[in-house]
Amino acid sequence: MGQTQRSLLGILAAGIVAWAVAFAPASATPGDQTIWKVGLSRVKITPSRPVVLLGYGDRSGPFESVAQDIYAKALAVEDGHGQRAVIVTADLVGWQAAVVTHKVCRRIQEKTGLDRSRLLFNASHAHTGPLVSLDPSAEANSVAHAPMTPNDIRETTAYTKELQKKLVALVCDALARLEPARLAWGMGRVDFPTNRRLPLEGRIVMRDNPAGPTDRAVPVLRIEALDGSLKAVLFGCACHNTSLTGRDNVIAGDYAGFAQEYIEGQHPAAQAMFMSGCGADANPSPRGSMEIARRHGSTLGGEVLRVLAAPLKSIQGDLNTAYREVDLPLQALSRAELEARAGLPSAEAVMARHMLSVLDGGEVLPDRYRAPFAVWQFGGDLTLVALPAEPVADYVALVGQALGRDKLWVAGFNNDCFGYLPTAQVVREGGHEAIGITLWIWGRSLRSKAGFFASEVEDVVLSTVRDLAEQASAAKPVRDTKCGNVNGR
Ligand SMILES: [Zn+2]
Repeated sequence: MGQTQRSLLGILAAGIVAWAVAFAPASATPGDQTIWKVGLSRVKITPSRPVVLLGYGDRSGPFESVAQDIYAKALAVEDGHGQRAVIVTADLVGWQAAVVTHKVCRRIQEKTGLDRSRLLFNASHAHTGPLVSLDPSAEANSVAHAPMTPNDIRETTAYTKELQKKLVALVCDALARLEPARLAWGMGRVDFPTNRRLPLEGRIVMRDNPAGPTDRAVPVLRIEALDGSLKAVLFGCACHNTSLTGRDNVIAGDYAGFAQEYIEGQHPAAQAMFMSGCGADANPSPRGSMEIARRHGSTLGGEVLRVLAAPLKSIQGDLNTAYREVDLPLQALSRAELEARAGLPSAEAVMARHMLSVLDGGEVLPDRYRAPFAVWQFGGDLTLVALPAEPVADYVALVGQALGRDKLWVAGFNNDCFGYLPTAQVVREGGHEAIGITLWIWGRSLRSKAGFFASEVEDVVLSTVRDLAEQASAAKPVRDTKCGNVNGR
């Protein structure tokens, strides 16, 4: 772990120097600037009926109250060539591809003609949001949700179907509201994200490890109208959205929700959108109450406002996107190896026991998982790398090394939340973030989707990101004419 930290520090130092150069006040005159178009929309996704929440296994029954409304929000962007793309963010644990994202994306593509590479769904990983599933499992799940009655299952299914419709309308609404705008971005920092992989007595336990690798950067994308007024801000933080715990059986956006509320409170005409970073191995410190969630939200929101008021790097050029679904390798474990893991005092045991139950049911465990990756290239000024699932913090440095460039925003929790995305080192060390594919928590049809990633997963992730970044950088602008239908409706 020491070696990783040193390499991380080296890269951070180099990044700061590059940053100082890149973030000198933009020299382009207003007349030289790319005029983007931006469309915004939001929809409340607070359940109107009682549903079971996803994130903790120690709750019982549906949520008890609404501490804060939760939202899905869309940001549609069009470059000077008419190329469009949409980012959707939401106060949810994650987007599960088989249950939500694939179906919603297909419907949006039918309506708008947008290429799949131009739709990006990011979840805040709030553990105080509803379970999203079309076929939830009734049995209690020690890492995910309470046992469900037949009525709970009906309510969750109904909520999920309604959510799917809301998401399609959300994206179409944003595309229909495109107006001229300027984009600029910068980076801040918060200190509450804290590494949660503590080496103790020869294994990794989930406890604060302030010396462990953590990405404390706060990337900020400012979207302003041509009169200079703030239209929207997309901001990130790489930390589990878990200031609240299983004791809080309430609907809320946790620190990310409170940060959005804080920013929108200061800028009532603007839309604030939260984008998760590589925070699989970070928890907020401290954590454990609504008051703490609010405090972290104010800290993060305050930092975003500070960055917004500082000189930012304006974004010029085209928006080119690349997307690929790639097989990530899983470990081939014998029954004896699984039984050995099932006896460990850790989350790995929960995964191993589930895998054994799959085998006992006569089903076959997968040897790979097909995961979606995307890179969005905003001119030469910003590369947005959209990793799926829950990536650990070291991926920020590793992606920086792999691409050999700065001006990077490495986001996690995009398009498919299939579990944890570990590095080779995390696979070797074990611990909670090594448990891999946890799709079985999302639905009965996903019961056999379980497995520990092989250490080669890191190489596959990095080579995929490298290929996609090259593809996005080399892309020639293509106007997607079918999208015009949406605008004209
Ligand atoms: Zn998580």
